[in-house]
Parts: sequence; C-alpha cells; structure tokens
Amino acid sequence: MKNPPFQAASVLPPAEAYLFDIDGTLLNSRDGVHYNAFHAAVREIYGIDSKIDGVPVHGNTDLGILRAVARRAGLSDAEFESKLPVAIACMCATASRNSAGMEPELCPSVRELLVALQRAGKLLGVVSGNLEPIGWLKLEAAGIKQFFAFGSFSNQRELRREIFAHGLEQVQRRLGDRARACFIGDTPADIDAARQLARPILAVATGIFPAAELLAHGPDACVSCCSELLAGIDL
Ligand SMILES: [Mg+2]
Repeated sequence: MKNPPFQAASVLPPAEAYLFDIDGTLLNSRDGVHYNAFHAAVREIYGIDSKIDGVPVHGNTDLGILRAVARRAGLSDAEFESKLPVAIACMCATASRNSAGMEPELCPSVRELLVALQRAGKLLGVVSGNLEPIGWLKLEAAGIKQFFAFGSFSNQRELRREIFAHGLEQVQRRLGDRARACFIGDTPADIDAARQLARPILAVATGIFPAAELLAHGPDACVSCCSELLAGIDL
C-alpha cells in the first residue's frame, strides 16, 4: 500500500532565527554573471574546455559544481584541490568585475517577508552554496543585503549540510544554544540538509522544483511562494 501524500503546513514554523537559501528562494538570476565566473575558473585555472552544463547545479554548491566539472574532465581530486584556492579567487574576481551586469529577480513577496521578520525582531541569515563574495553581490544587487546579519557559504564547505550547520552555529553564538532556527530553501537538498540537523524547514517552490516534489521530501511547511506566508503570518 502506498503511503498517503505528505501533509505540510503552509505557515512559517516558529523560530527566533530564519536562515534563507539564496538562489531559487530569495531570488533568481538569469544574467549569467555567476555562470560565466565558473567558466573563467574552469578554463583559466584548470585548463578545461567545457561548460558546467550537465552538472546538477540546483541544490549543489559552487565547490561541488567545480569538483564535478573537474572529475568529468579526468582531473584527480588532488589536482583539483591543489588549484582550488586560486580557482575560487578567479571566480570571485570575475563575478566582482562583472557585478554591474547582475540582474537578480526577487521572488514574490520576499522583501515584504523580510521586513515583517525584521520588525518582529527575528535574526536573519543566509545559507548558500554560493561562494561568499558572489552571494553577497547578488543580495546587494537585489537590494536585500541589509536584512541579513551573517551568512554561511561554500568557500570552506562543500556540502550543504556543512553550510547549514555553520549557519546554525552562528545563530547559537548570537542567541544561545536553545535558540530555535528555521531554514528556508527551494530544493530537496535544502530539506535533506535541515533534516540531518534535526531543524525545521519551510520549502518554497520558486526555484525549479514544484511543490509536489518538495513535499515528497518531507519539509515542515511548503508554499508555492512567500506571498502565501504573508496572508497568515503570525510572528
Ligand atoms: Mg536554492
């Protein structure tokens, strides 16, 4: 007998801190600045004549994407890692040089949600697979950087679980070990990372994954976009 469909709430789980993924959750970028920064590093540092196309990027991390491209081209992990610091520097410099071309599109009602959470005194952070300077540049271009007190990114952390855990550590450092933190993300990888840390997660279907697919991974709550949260927000 098949299990019944997982039921999830459509309200924000209660918490003192909210940790947001960036791509597909807060905003979507179709400008190619980040995409082209990958290719600068892949080509100039690793000497690989290949695009990142074909490597899963949604829910992945920048380090994970680079490693997958390097492996596909036959590089050993040792060779990949020996050049990684300079590849990261190349990606960040390229994105920074081209940041005027960033045109992130905020997901529906994201700004209104951030304003409401900030007014309610919530601590807000980002947990993203982006390299740190690239993540902050996107948030700045989208006009929402000022809402976030801290971020956890993929510079030293290749796994999403590690990025989320570091975000959680920063919440606990600021608010104490008993502070409740809730993650907000748009991919099954976000849901799985929060689950591994035994923390609640709200899934939003504003990335490439439809709500039905996100629900199959068992988030605590799931909405099609943040507008649904504002209607019944109870902070
Ligand atoms: Mg995402």
